[in-house]
Amino acid sequence: MYTALRLQRRLKRELERGEVDITVVTPDPYMTYQPFLPEAAAGAISPRHVVVPLRRVLDRCRVVIGEATAVDHAKRTATITTLATEEEGTGGQQLTYDELVLAPGSVSRTLPVPGLADHGIGFKTVEEAIGLRNHVIEQMDIASSTRDPAIRDAALTFVFVGGGFAGVEALGELEDMARYAARYYHNIRPEDMKWILVEASDRILPEVGEEMGRYTVTELRRRNIDVRLQTRLESCADRVAVLSDGARFPTRTVVWTAGVKPHPVLAATDLPRNDRGRLRCTAELAVEGATHAWAAGDAAAVPDVTAGEPGRECAPNAQHALRQAKVLADNIVHTLRGEPLQTYEHAYAGSVASLGLHKGVAHVYGRKLKGYPAWFMHRAYHLSRVPTFNRKARVLAEWTLAGLFKREIVSLGSLEHPRAEFELAAGGKPSQDPPHNPKGSS
Ligand SMILES: Cc1cc2nc3c(=O)[nH]c(=O)nc-3n(C[C@H](O)[C@H](O)[C@H](O)COP(=O)(O)OP(=O)(O)OC[C@H]3O[C@@H](n4cnc5c(N)ncnc54)[C@H](O)[C@@H]3O)c2cc1C
Repeated sequence: MYTALRLQRRLKRELERGEVDITVVTPDPYMTYQPFLPEAAAGAISPRHVVVPLRRVLDRCRVVIGEATAVDHAKRTATITTLATEEEGTGGQQLTYDELVLAPGSVSRTLPVPGLADHGIGFKTVEEAIGLRNHVIEQMDIASSTRDPAIRDAALTFVFVGGGFAGVEALGELEDMARYAARYYHNIRPEDMKWILVEASDRILPEVGEEMGRYTVTELRRRNIDVRLQTRLESCADRVAVLSDGARFPTRTVVWTAGVKPHPVLAATDLPRNDRGRLRCTAELAVEGATHAWAAGDAAAVPDVTAGEPGRECAPNAQHALRQAKVLADNIVHTLRGEPLQTYEHAYAGSVASLGLHKGVAHVYGRKLKGYPAWFMHRAYHLSRVPTFNRKARVLAEWTLAGLFKREIVSLGSLEHPRAEFELAAGGKPSQDPPHNPKGSS
């Protein structure tokens, strides 16, 4: 989105004269600002405000809702499937191009853990974040109404695997929300819930440095969250999470946030990839050895020219992705105008993470912050970064209103089954949960 946005601004006249066309192929009609997903899961930001509508923002581009399934760069052709091609049964459409920007990001990196594919849920999309919020509240409803202690115990046990940004922030925000929600349940106390963070290495949140990572462990444990370092999830078959330290937790919630890997579509191209599957790129964001192909973000292995040691790549994070996107757009414009290319150069500024309302941790430009100041910085930073003035204003309004009124604790899980009520009324059987649904409770 950032590349297309900059291109449509910088090539405004060429677009008006019809000399240039920009086509954006995207499975969803919106861009997701992923750093806000934990707050969306906690109900602090509504789902519509963590996404940016592409058709409105990219009004001078052609937006195609579909997926690139293969790219033959030698022939300058991408194969695209859309909802229409699926319905027509005609196979993919061929889209030809002069310049290619490939930025499909990453997908969850899973392991062959028994039961994971059936019971786990990721935390990369707005659907997953909202599904998880509904699911957590629904588990509290189940626990509150059952007379079976085993069902209650499993419903109130929440296991998160992976102590990076996504896992720690999602757990921190959801635990905080559930702790607050518990005051509205006559028979659930915050101490009745088990929140478990499983991390294979000996530290969490490597992005904020060792000291702040240790602080985060202490802070989470102070909140009664069971942080298990150097531990792996070995199985979650039959809804029992079995850990490598021998612990077993019957649970209906396993959130998998154990890292990401480059999007698999990269393997369906004739472009060079490194041993981790990212596209090999130059510091100018061109794909190595391929003219007129460009890449940025999680999918691109871009040399970190500020690192001072050869072979270091920019980390897969939003900080690099959105800065690279702008340089990439500029370099396409330079290429079209026969100008020299710009080198992408950004020294990692550090990170901020939210651990729940008024709780956070930060390590930015060498400064370490904890608690409220870190949380405030987290909000200020991401507010400044979320795209479009419209979204900034809406998010700020929501935060302001949340400060005046009580927190939202409603689950709208039934939104995921809009036909259930009518099917029942019409005498049919309510349809099954879709496979990605984390609930598995119906
Ligand atoms: C919960 C969470 C919290 C995070 N917090 C932070 C943070 O605080 N700070 C930070 O720096 N980073 C954070 N990150 C990481 C950051 O969000 C990513 O590094 C960043 O989004 C990568 O940008 P990208 O453009 O490469 O990929 P994405 O943002 O994933 O965008 C890729 C796009 O390509 C589309 N796509 C995929 N395949 C195809 C295809 N075949 N055809 C067409 N389109 C396709 C996808 O639908 C998607 O819209 C967080 C990530 C998560 C999940």
